[in-house]
Amino acid sequence: MTAKVMKLIEVYYRSYICSGTNTITKKALIAWEKKSLPKSVGGYNLINLKVWNKAAVTKIHWDLAQKEDKAWTRWIHVYYIKGQSIPEMNIPQQAIWMMRKIMEARKTMQQVLDLKQRQSVIKHIYLGLLGNHNKVEWRPLIFYNEARPKAVSTMWIQCHERMLTADRLTKWGIQVSPRCSLCLNADESHLHLFGECSFSRLVWLRLLRWLQIWDAPMNPWSQVVIWLILQSKGKLCKSKILKMMYAEYIYGIWKERNSRIFEDQTRNEEQIVREVSCICNIRT
Ligand SMILES: [Zn+2]
Repeated sequence: MTAKVMKLIEVYYRSYICSGTNTITKKALIAWEKKSLPKSVGGYNLINLKVWNKAAVTKIHWDLAQKEDKAWTRWIHVYYIKGQSIPEMNIPQQAIWMMRKIMEARKTMQQVLDLKQRQSVIKHIYLGLLGNHNKVEWRPLIFYNEARPKAVSTMWIQCHERMLTADRLTKWGIQVSPRCSLCLNADESHLHLFGECSFSRLVWLRLLRWLQIWDAPMNPWSQVVIWLILQSKGKLCKSKILKMMYAEYIYGIWKERNSRIFEDQTRNEEQIVREVSCICNIRT
C-alpha cells in the first residue's frame, strides 16, 4: 500500500477511535503510538497500519527467502535473484517498485530474529517492530475486562492518569473551576476524583458491599489499586466481576462529574451504584 493511502486511512482510523465520528480530528488524550502497543505494556492493542504494512512486506520477503516452492517465488528467483545471496545481492534497479520494496525489507528482517519458530510470522515481525516496552502493573485490570468498551477505554485513560481533570486543565492555562463537582469540598485532581472524594468513596464502598466484599482496603487509594490488581489476576468469576465493576465505577464517576459540570444534572450515590451494579449484572 502506498504511503499516501496509508496516511489517509490512518488519519480517519485515528479520528474515529478518538472522536467516534468520521471527521478528521487531532484530539487525542494519549499518543497514537501508545495506543497501538500491546495491552501488557499500557497500550490498547490497536493496529498501527504503518508498522503492520511494513511487517506485511517483510513477511513477503521472508517467504521469498524461505519458500522456494511457490510459483511466484520461483519466478522471482529465476528472473531477479538468479542464485545470489538475498541479504547481500544488489537490488535490481530495473525491477518494479513493489519488487524493490520487498527486496529492501531485508533490513527489517535483520531487526527480528527467530522467525522459524513462530506460528504467525507477520505478527511476530509486527511486535518486533513495535519494540520492547516495560509492562505496566495495572495490566490485569485491562485484560479480558467485560465492561462496556466505553467504560474500559475510560478506565484505560484513567490508569494512564490522562483524564482532563481541573488540575491538568489549569496547568495548561485553561480557566475552569478547580473545585470537585461531586463533593464541593476539595480541588479536583485525578487522585481526588476517583480515590479520595467522599462521594466517590461512598459509591465504591457500596459497590464492594454489593459484591459481598468486606475485607478490601479503603485507605490510602494506592493500596486499594494494589489490592484491585491482585484480585483481578485470577480467572475466577469474582475477579472478572470486580474488574468489570471497577471500569464501570470509573466511567460512572466521570460521567456524573461531566453531567454536573456541563449539563447541570445531578444524581446521588445510590443512583450511580444501582446503574453500575445493574450493568455488571447484565454483562456477567
Ligand atoms: Zn470530591
